[in-house]
Amino acid sequence: MDIHVEKFGGASVNSASAVRNVVKLLKATPKCRAVVVSAMGKTTNALERLAKHSFETGKLDEDTLKEVQTYHFQVINELFGDRAEAIREKVNALLKEMKNIIISCETDSYDKFYDAVVSFGEILSTAVITEYLKAESVEHQLVMAFDIIKTDACHRSANVLWEQTQKAIDENVVPYLRNEYMVITQGFIGGVYQQSVRTTLGREGSDYTAAILSYCLRATDCTIWKDVDGLRNADPKIVERTSKIEQLPYAEAIELSYYGATIIHPKTLKPLENGDIPLYVKSFLEPQLPGSKICRCETIKPYVTSFIFKDNQALLSILSKDLSFIAEENLSGIFAVLARNKVKVNLMQNSALSFSICFDDNGELPQLVEELQPYYRVLYNLNLRLVTLRHYSQDDIDEIVRQSVIIMEQRSRTTAQFLIKK
Ligand code: ASP
Ligand code: MG
Repeated sequence: MDIHVEKFGGASVNSASAVRNVVKLLKATPKCRAVVVSAMGKTTNALERLAKHSFETGKLDEDTLKEVQTYHFQVINELFGDRAEAIREKVNALLKEMKNIIISCETDSYDKFYDAVVSFGEILSTAVITEYLKAESVEHQLVMAFDIIKTDACHRSANVLWEQTQKAIDENVVPYLRNEYMVITQGFIGGVYQQSVRTTLGREGSDYTAAILSYCLRATDCTIWKDVDGLRNADPKIVERTSKIEQLPYAEAIELSYYGATIIHPKTLKPLENGDIPLYVKSFLEPQLPGSKICRCETIKPYVTSFIFKDNQALLSILSKDLSFIAEENLSGIFAVLARNKVKVNLMQNSALSFSICFDDNGELPQLVEELQPYYRVLYNLNLRLVTLRHYSQDDIDEIVRQSVIIMEQRSRTTAQFLIKK
């Protein structure tokens, strides 16, 4: 049986007309499918604020709660007209449940609290969307993600327990998947195995949910619906002329997301690769367009250079204090400090007397300096941009870094990287 998995992100369900468009798209192509939905628009950001503020102050952040309610009510009113009251009730019941979790706050772990609160974004969106599917007479079954995506208790970036997840999907999803039937579930959230505790898979984790489902269902394909017509070789917000990528090998897509291309959640590709399931990235605004395909293939088509820009980079240079070499023993000590502080190194370079690393600046720098300063001279730069070119030519390099001050650079046969002042 052909099973298709499709994921609709926050932007595809951020208004009444967006929800209508999703349902229209599903209706236009009846098939046996599992549909993964994100929270509406920027709801997850709002819920993050709500969780943080409430946890820190010990008081419910009424304003943000109201904001989330008003936003969902707006969508509901526009979607359901006279029938809106009943759906608003349903949403209110969920918000009340969330409010009780916040007020009673039964944990001193912020991450656990975060998951309990922030997971409501997806639960609210699927509540509204399934009501609309009902109103449009689209047959479907809602399956709660915490009943099928089984994880450990590593809150905010929970790890999937594959065997348990497979079993839960076999039991709770597979029975519904026949003919042109549709199962709908939430992206991003999971549940701790054998406990009624909710987890999340990390921000933007709905792509990953779609990949997990695809793998466990041995899906024919997986489609991520976006507001762009596929993958591009650079961010159009930064580069004037970009080209669309038609086809991309999994390994290349993993490399691109490693270097900072943000279009697909990085954990998404491995399960798809393992299951040999092609991933399509398509536009929900122009669903007739082919989009981009990531699959087991030899090369990128068309064969273009990809440009990836990563901002907010810190450069830390660790220098010998007394002209002694920075040798292997020093490096292993330095790496221990980096690992302890969960620093994600993007680029490194060494000489006899120095070792330099570039990393995402998430505020670890003062701690690093404190730990390294007793042994080394430490210098740093902040607010840099890392530009990575895959499959570059000298012309590409000239064009991109021509007017920039280059602080550090590195080239291999396939990849050139430049740390520049913005
Ligand atoms: N709603 C979650 C987020 O915004 C998950 C997702 O959209 O993939 O991070
Ligand atoms: Mg999202």
